[in-house]
Amino acid sequence: MRLVILGGPGAGKGTQAARLCSQLNIPWISTGDMLRSAIAAQTPLGMQAQPYVEKGELVPDPTLIEFMRSRLNQPDASKGWLFDGYPRTAFQAEELDFLLDDLGQTLDWAIYLDVPPNVMMSRILGRSRLDTDVICRLDDQPEIVQRRIELFQERTIPILEYYEQRSRLLKVSGDQTPEQVQQQILQKLNQV
Ligand code: AMP
Repeated sequence: MRLVILGGPGAGKGTQAARLCSQLNIPWISTGDMLRSAIAAQTPLGMQAQPYVEKGELVPDPTLIEFMRSRLNQPDASKGWLFDGYPRTAFQAEELDFLLDDLGQTLDWAIYLDVPPNVMMSRILGRSRLDTDVICRLDDQPEIVQRRIELFQERTIPILEYYEQRSRLLKVSGDQTPEQVQQQILQKLNQV
């Protein structure tokens, strides 16, 4: 199965991605996690991405697209995957389809976790308080979170229409318990 999971910061993408990947036995490919590791290791990609990630801005499309092309060429991605955090712009969504065409693959579903902006904000602020002793995510500061939510609405929401028009969108309310959200996703995946 080839899936993307879409949702704003704090929508629960990571939680649902982890559950779906273990259930479906596919690799979980998170651009946010990959970028944070690259920044920590100060690789060339990390150094390029760092100023954007720290400010909550989007890393430029060409950098991400190239990165995803090489990630999809790795052997573990040959039988399926779940992308978390990619695509994030309409341009990335189109580029992903071109890339999949080249590889002879197709995307099965784009799962959208619908969560109101005020809920996203309070979830992230709660998460950053809990995380302070463990990992300090600089992009979880309130004004940066606000910017990430704005960018989600401006740049990522238009992708929903792109997938809707291609009959590949599965919309689930993310404003429920993680168990309920998971249940609904699995039900929809089995139904369609
Ligand atoms: P996330 O953990 O998915 O919220 O991603 C953290 C940060 O990584 C974002 O705020 C962006 O700066 C960057 N990022 C992750 N995925 C993408 C993407 N597909 N396009 C551009 N920037 C991204």
